Order: sequence, then structure tokens, then C-alpha cells
Amino acid sequence: SVPLSFFGGIGGASKCGVLIKGSNYLEALAKTETVVFDKTGTLTKGSFAVSGCFPEKITKEKLLELAAYAEKDSNHPISKSIVNAYGKELNASRVADVQEIAGHGISISLDGKTVLAGNSRLMNLNHIKFKPVRETGTVVYVAEDGISRGAILIEDEVKEDAAFAIRELKQSGIRKTVMLTGDAKAVGENVAQRLGLDEVYTELLPADKVSHMEQLLSQTSEKGKLAFVGDGINDAPVLARADIGIAMGGLGSDAAIEAADVVIMTDEPSKIAAAMRISRKTLRIVH
Ligand code: ADP
Ligand code: MG
Repeated sequence: SVPLSFFGGIGGASKCGVLIKGSNYLEALAKTETVVFDKTGTLTKGSFAVSGCFPEKITKEKLLELAAYAEKDSNHPISKSIVNAYGKELNASRVADVQEIAGHGISISLDGKTVLAGNSRLMNLNHIKFKPVRETGTVVYVAEDGISRGAILIEDEVKEDAAFAIRELKQSGIRKTVMLTGDAKAVGENVAQRLGLDEVYTELLPADKVSHMEQLLSQTSEKGKLAFVGDGINDAPVLARADIGIAMGGLGSDAAIEAADVVIMTDEPSKIAAAMRISRKTLRIVH
């Protein structure tokens, strides 16, 4: 049976915007040793803005149009910024064969031509020759029928609450904070350094995130637990693999919210430390 005070703990957490889906997770939160974060939408706002356009032999407008059509139906945080920057209406009947490739980007057929929008890995995979953009930001390369059409630089912002969240976790005795991201090395390392994370692994595909997770799980002590915090976009497998899967309730995908053990309704990472405090307090009352 579940001690009554556990309900108090779960209720207390829900009052501050943290949904804990069972007493076993309350207990696991109290024993958490390692906290692993996704970057986009978790530690950063996930609201990108276009900050540069580098068209190749086409106009800036045409570059944005190609990318906007590619991103039209994606729910990745990147997509909205590009569709917004283009700003014009998109005609769905021009698009066919939409394929979203996790950790890479998107391939579509636009008026019968193959359009790619994604990172350098997507370009390499399709043997596209492109000019690398050397700026600290997320770069979306665009190609049409095998030819590079240029790149779009987009930037995200670190959440105001994120640095505080990491400090709070450290102060509450969390041994290790880690970030796993599919984004470029320069972007990931910049965020990790600004937030004071202990470890960062970048340019990861969803499967790479899982293998890093296995490694981090094996480094956790026998009684200690590992929590993963993400939005479920390209990180659902790691969210499921962690001892405790924590999802962002506002930005997260519906599937992630459903699959998660704990949901942060306000999207503030500092709520994780708050939930851990509540769970430790509750457990002390019980034992
Ligand atoms: P993160 O780990 O930061 O949440 P993801 O795993 O979702 O990142 O994506 C990793 C990388 O894959 C992105 O930084 C981007 O380069 C590329 N990518 C993924 N989805 C898209 C998309 N819809 N459009 C363009 N690029 C994308
Ligand atoms: Mg993500």
C-alpha cells in the first residue's frame, strides 16, 4: 500500500506545476543522482529566430521559400522560425513525399523537385556539395535537386530559468548534470558552458542518445537514479529508457507527455529541483 503522505507529496508538487504520475516516481525523484537534459526546448526556449540567410545563386526570398515548404508540416522547434521568416502563404498542393529524418532534417518533393532542408549531416548523406557556415548558431542547409541553394542561420535563446535550475540541482546534491543534443558542437558547448553543466555530448542521433544514456545509467550508483528531461521530439527513446522520464508539458509533444513519468507543466527546468525537494521531504516523513 502507498503511505498517505505520498499523496500529499504528489499534491504539493502539482500545486507548483509538476505532475508526478505515481508514488514510485516520487521515491525515484528523491534518489536521483544524475540529471540528463535535452537541449532544444528543454534548456533553451525552442523558439528559434532566423538571424542570417546565405543564398547561393538564388534570391534570399527563394531560399526561404524552399525551406518553408520543407518545414511546413514539421513539429520540430526549428520549423516554425523558418515558416514565419518566409511569412507568405504556402500552397499544400505543391508538396509531396514529405520525409522527416530524425537528427537530420527534411526531404520533400516541391513541384516535382527534391528539396532538402537540414544539417550538414543531411547534406553529406545526399552527397550535396555545400559551403559550411561558420557561425555559432543552428544552421539549416537547403538543397534543390542535388544542388546546394544556401543556408539559413537560426538562433535559440537559453531559458532565463535554466542556469538557476542547474545551480539548484547542484546545491541539492545532484552528482552530475549532463546535456545530450543533436545540434552542432559549437552550439551545444556554448550552452553547456553558460549553464555550468558537468558534461555535454553533441551531434547525436536519437540512437546515439540512447547509447550515451546506457553508459550514464551504468555509472549511476546502485541506489541512485537517473532522470532524463526532454520534450520528446527526437528523444522519446531516451525519455523511456531513463529511471525517470521528465517531459516539458507546454512545448513537449503529446506522445512525450503521455509517455513521461513526470511532467513540468510550466516548462521551467528549475521545477525539477523543487520536485526533488518535495519528494525528499515526503520520504523523510514516511520513513
Ligand atoms: P536536440 O537534441 O537539440 O533537441 P534534435 O535531435 O531534435 O536536436 O535535432 C538535431 C539536429 O537535427 C538539429 O539541430 C538540426 O540540425 C537537425 N534537424 C532536426 N529536425 C530538423 C528539421 N525539422 N529541420 C531542419 N533541421 C532539423
Ligand atoms: Mg529535442
